[in-house]
Amino acid sequence: MSGKVTLVGAGPGDPGLLTVKGLRALEGAEVVVYDRLVSPAVLALIPPNARRIDVGKEASRHPVPQGRINQILLEEAQAGHNVVRLKGGDPFVFGRGGEELQVLAQAGVDFAEVPGITSAIAAAAYGGIPVTHRDCASSLHIITGHAKEGAELRIDFEALVRARGTLVFLMGVTALPVIVKGLLEAGMAPDTPAAMVERGTLPGQRRCGAPLAALPDRAAEMGIHSPAIIIVGGVCALAEELCWFQRLPLYGKRILVTRPGDRAGTLSEKLRDLGADVVEFPCIRTEAVSPCPAMEAALERLPEYEWLGFTSAAGVDAFWNCLRGMGKDARALGNVKLAVIGAATGRALEAHGLTADLVPVVYDAPHMGEALAKAAAGRVLLLRAEEGSSDLTDALAAAGVAFDDIAVYRTIYDNPHSAELREELEAGGFDFVTFTSASTVKGFVSAVGGDADFSRFTGLCIGKQTAGEAEKHHISVKTAAKAAIDALVELALEK
Ligand code: SAH
Repeated sequence: MSGKVTLVGAGPGDPGLLTVKGLRALEGAEVVVYDRLVSPAVLALIPPNARRIDVGKEASRHPVPQGRINQILLEEAQAGHNVVRLKGGDPFVFGRGGEELQVLAQAGVDFAEVPGITSAIAAAAYGGIPVTHRDCASSLHIITGHAKEGAELRIDFEALVRARGTLVFLMGVTALPVIVKGLLEAGMAPDTPAAMVERGTLPGQRRCGAPLAALPDRAAEMGIHSPAIIIVGGVCALAEELCWFQRLPLYGKRILVTRPGDRAGTLSEKLRDLGADVVEFPCIRTEAVSPCPAMEAALERLPEYEWLGFTSAAGVDAFWNCLRGMGKDARALGNVKLAVIGAATGRALEAHGLTADLVPVVYDAPHMGEALAKAAAGRVLLLRAEEGSSDLTDALAAAGVAFDDIAVYRTIYDNPHSAELREELEAGGFDFVTFTSASTVKGFVSAVGGDADFSRFTGLCIGKQTAGEAEKHHISVKTAAKAAIDALVELALEK
């Protein structure tokens, strides 16, 4: 059976600007063919089992010729694959999306198109420039500043000046002086407000504003490079007032997030919404101990326990999978009371319709031990990591509480050594590195190398144990007031 190609607009860079439909298409993709302008944060949304084909660059640093791209799309679809063709911005705005679909149409291959948010509008918006405004622009013109190979730029400047709308030039960085000269010669006032937005919607976004005649010099001074858009028209005068993105509290901060992949979502999103440049580098992953005869035996005797305690969402997952595997469900818990170390573990339980009876005031092992020791009269079952902290069990033992401590998952440090990351860290490329457990510190150190220079960034740690582990490696740390993601985010915001 023949496959299908979905042409998807990836938006200008901020992954939040990918459409819901685009994301769904991506999630179902078997093969993803993408361009240079698709941002790493959007590429990170490609499912791990999908095959990626980068047609934006080759070893020679020349892009793959259009004819070859068309051929790849045809071959992959005809081999029966579900292909997503991912393009920066909107595929039909100077993206050659129409050409690619024509090839598919002519070959009788199924296709669909998901529009994207074009940089022509979004980069301007993130630079504080609305492309139309009742007071100064009633039309919008999007123009390419790129000439066909060997040819001169052919733009009808007189027509553009006459239209009196907002002008947005894409691919115009090289031709900037030619564009400005053309507009001035066609009669546009030299003091017409103008601007450029470089890397729009991305963490390193820069805006450059000047009267039209001065824009080329101003852009050269600032060293504006591609990708950037050029905006000409009265709306550019609004930028100072409306520029919001570059005023976000974490704008300009680069943060490495070391959480395990599938749990990084909320932390990264929160930091990005505050303007940070977030790089995800999952340092550890957890793996359930499976089969786990000790847990199975304990679950057979569940009613003998008064309390069941969890110290992480991974423990809850392992418990639930084991219970279901034994053909049981939540009713097996009967009157057993549930203790969790913190809010996130509580939410993992709630996903199964179960509410925790006990959450310590401070989310860490010593406080959980203390609280459980006080509350327990009968036997306690702990389902947690292989190398769980003895603080918890010591507190129970000291209070004479009987317990079974079963390792139901283990932490795996299989991140390959990353010389690239180490170089960046040592060059001061990151302001912060977040650590959400002592094991993320261990995973991070093992990936970067214990002898690396850790003096150029601050470690944001979720709690005392995590901070203690970081300090062993001479990382300067800040410790969250509470072991919760929001408190970690607060640390990044502290002056
Ligand atoms: N289809 C794309 C445009 C492709 S042409 C879209 O709709 O956005 C490539 C040009 O788009 C670049 O030369 C630059 O002018 C512009 N561009 C793309 N992404 C950009 C970004 N994040 N910031 C500024 N300009 C961008």
